[in-house]
Amino acid sequence: MKVFKFGGASVKDASAYRNVAEIVRLYPKDKLIIVISAMGKTTNALEELVRSYFHKDRQKQRHLKQIRMFHKDIVEDLFHDKSHSVYAEIGRLFQELSLYIKSEPGSNFDYEYDQVVAYGELLSSCLLSHYLIDVGIGNSLLNASDVIMTDDNFREGRVYWPQTIRLIRQKLKDFATADLGLENVIVTQGFIGRSPDGSFTTLGREGSDYSAAIFGHAMEVEEVVIWKDVEGLLDADPKLFSNAKLIETISYHETIELSFYGASIIHPKTIQPLENKNIPLCVKSFLNPQLTGSVIKRIEGTENPPSSIIVKENQMLISIASTDFSFIAEKNLQNIFRIFAELAVRINVMQNSAISFSVIIDDPQYKKKLLLSELSAYFKVRYNEGLKLITIRHYTPEIIRLVTGDSEILLEQKSRFTYQAVIR
Ligand code: ASP
Ligand code: MG
Repeated sequence: MKVFKFGGASVKDASAYRNVAEIVRLYPKDKLIIVISAMGKTTNALEELVRSYFHKDRQKQRHLKQIRMFHKDIVEDLFHDKSHSVYAEIGRLFQELSLYIKSEPGSNFDYEYDQVVAYGELLSSCLLSHYLIDVGIGNSLLNASDVIMTDDNFREGRVYWPQTIRLIRQKLKDFATADLGLENVIVTQGFIGRSPDGSFTTLGREGSDYSAAIFGHAMEVEEVVIWKDVEGLLDADPKLFSNAKLIETISYHETIELSFYGASIIHPKTIQPLENKNIPLCVKSFLNPQLTGSVIKRIEGTENPPSSIIVKENQMLISIASTDFSFIAEKNLQNIFRIFAELAVRINVMQNSAISFSVIIDDPQYKKKLLLSELSAYFKVRYNEGLKLITIRHYTPEIIRLVTGDSEILLEQKSRFTYQAVIR
């Protein structure tokens, strides 16, 4: 048994749906659990819808209409027979959503967000299940929110593991034990779960990878495959470095490090459930499914990890100095960390001297004013914005030279495996 995860880009239009079916057809001898994201940019569109619903602005019907039209076009392209039951089912989902946004919104935005945004995955999975049946790939649709149980931390639901594993195994018992036959496929949604009171929850943006890992872990599958619009994992962003190379194999450990430094490869929570069961995670191209792609797995002995380059844009450098020339010692540090922690602003890099302390953070946007004013109450504060943070894992002097070139370096740090520089 394998888990396949298809992201929004792999179901962005009708031909993308056809391509998914072609890929599934390449695996006739496997039982597949297919985890699917919302189509294209639907999650973003639903975010706009829920904002207008929550703030009661007049755009809400327009947003809903756009989402409906986008889906309608794809459904009509895939199903020429207007009496096909998919029309009624998609219609019913839109009916529910439309009723929901007519009701009075509650005071918890995150709760409302999950009740609305979950529809993206409900729609895309309903469509995929019907389409696969239509082209002769028997399957059953499983509602992920019937099995993935979380707490009520809306928008970032924390999974109740024992309960979730039990429910997934229960629901998929027949699927797991039946002989290979007409129905080798389960279609389900990424990203969504259910809270103890029965409401929808979501697992955080881009959380479908994590859902795939949850199903993989529960069913102890042989591998999880994430189908993407790139060849696999690359050692740098190809948009910035034209000679970026494919990483064929990499350890779970190195992958977690890379995502910590900002590589947007895989949702960071995905690795742990797979590592625990030693399940390989493959990243393959949905445009060229015959290519091998990359494999993230346990590597015995010492790994010879690739040099990877990660560039984070929109960084802010804040230099914090004591006002009375006192040392940035424990008391001051405690105060600084408290301010960052209370505002939930993550520090990417830090460095200190006797009387000053520098931090690099992602641009804190709407929290910026508050952060600067809190810090200024105790310290002398200077800052620069619009910077780049470059991280090189397993660096060599040549790579550092190549990447930093003649840029002005505002801050630099080296450890055994990692080089980091902040440049303009
Ligand atoms: N549809 C969700 C998002 O766009 C989840 C995902 O695609 O992984 O964030
Ligand atoms: Mg997505």
